[in-house]
Amino acid sequence: MPELPEVEIVARSLDKLTAKRKIVSAELLRARLAPDTDPPRFATDLETSIVNFVHRRGKHVLFDLSNGRTLITHLRMSGKFMLLDSSAENPKFTHAIMNFEDGERLVFQDQRHFGLMKIVDTSDLNEAKEIRKLGPEPLGDDFTFEYLRSALRTTKRSLKEFLLDQTKVCGLGNIYASEAMFLSGASPRIPAYKLSKPKSAALYENIRVVLSDAIGVGSTLPIVAHDIGGSIYGIGSDWKWRVYDREGDECANCDSPIKRIVQAGRSTYYCSKCQKR
Ligand SMILES: [Zn+2]
Repeated sequence: MPELPEVEIVARSLDKLTAKRKIVSAELLRARLAPDTDPPRFATDLETSIVNFVHRRGKHVLFDLSNGRTLITHLRMSGKFMLLDSSAENPKFTHAIMNFEDGERLVFQDQRHFGLMKIVDTSDLNEAKEIRKLGPEPLGDDFTFEYLRSALRTTKRSLKEFLLDQTKVCGLGNIYASEAMFLSGASPRIPAYKLSKPKSAALYENIRVVLSDAIGVGSTLPIVAHDIGGSIYGIGSDWKWRVYDREGDECANCDSPIKRIVQAGRSTYYCSKCQKR
């Protein structure tokens, strides 16, 4: 699932490709993509509006529209946007389409059907249930060391589960939580309130480092208009995770094998020697 950096790259790419363009018509082909907005409403809410800009909050992509509305999109597991010209067919699993004035169209494709869309009044955006409960943006001014320290101290859940809780810190998932804990020498299993002050300080810095490094790499990659996935690893980048998805590989610090454990149903990768507590 894309995390903050990937969603940020998707939002920036969409902003470059669609800002200031007029939507002449729109179709919601799979009603369950937008359970709170029925297909006729989806069409009328988007048609004839201009995309002012595209931005991000947490893992949500937000299209700010000239008619005072905002289209909220969560990509979830496999959702992606594709900007296609009039000669291209709709791909399989096309769930929504926005047609632009010049004949190009933005398609939302989602093989695994977990993506979500919703249209709200922009003035009420911060009250939408998807947005309202989100914790501070880790790269924003509200995310301070004091905030993180006091949030950590209020929960007995494991550090890993704490970091995945979008109401505490938004945008982190398995990848960047694992990477930030590794860089901080912090155990994913430690109850959050027991994390020492020095390790909390390291974690605060490293959350920001892993996210901004990934955005830095992602923003140097070319935008592929017909495949706006935001992926910063694989083709086009020699990005390598430190621990994520590297079970059995040697830890870069101590040569011990990297371990994978499952916490609350999600994989965590870590070095049991370097991340004892
Ligand atoms: Zn190690």
